Amino acid sequence: MVEHFPEGEKLVLIAANWKMYKTTVEARAFCAAFTPPPGVDVVLAPPYTALHGVLEAGITVYAQSVHWEDEGAFTGEISAPMLLELGVQGALVGHSERRQYFGETDETVALRAAHALESGLGVIACVGELEAEREQGATEDVLRRQLSVLERHDDLVVAYEPVWAIGTGKTATPDQAQEAHAFIKSLLDVPVLYGGSVKPENAGEILSLPGVDGALVGGASLEAGSFSAICEAASRLAS
Ligand code: PEP
Repeated sequence: MVEHFPEGEKLVLIAANWKMYKTTVEARAFCAAFTPPPGVDVVLAPPYTALHGVLEAGITVYAQSVHWEDEGAFTGEISAPMLLELGVQGALVGHSERRQYFGETDETVALRAAHALESGLGVIACVGELEAEREQGATEDVLRRQLSVLERHDDLVVAYEPVWAIGTGKTATPDQAQEAHAFIKSLLDVPVLYGGSVKPENAGEILSLPGVDGALVGGASLEAGSFSAICEAASRLAS
């Protein structure tokens, strides 16, 4: 079980999604330059090949996905027992890049999340609308559909990541983020992270919004300096 969501305390979780960046050597160099600040739960999600490099540094590590079977003929996948054996504490599921490029659906997200949680892994399940869906006023319908396959669990965290804000430099306005977080929490009582072009310059404002329990960070998590600055902003709010 994950031990980094202490009961009764306000969660401020900053998770790094490194996507398909960093060799083991690069991951070790990052960890040598990065110290998690007090009051913040930090999770790094490196590529599978760099998991052990980050684990060595004593930082909480999540995989970027996990399969719903413990083993089998599933080329290219990784299972919960394989991750647990390494000391990995959780996994992202349903990232929009998985949905967009690798055929991930709400059904496979549900299977992955449920099995990971049953196996004792923490889960950060990603949801969020496309730009066209927001423009059509369908944001809540999309979130309702994506969340309908998930069940509340102590080790489940949702990341609200409007797809139009991922890697684009665009961020949701404070009102848009607050509204979406409140809507998600009305459907599923779990901590909700914001993701989408979070950087040192906007982290303080985003993290101080009601209903925002932390951030999932892509681009700005690749460099120890900028990721540290985001974690420091979270630490100031937590104290
Ligand atoms: C992500 O990939 O989850 C993400 C939020 O990326 P970025 O911070 O680069 O927008």
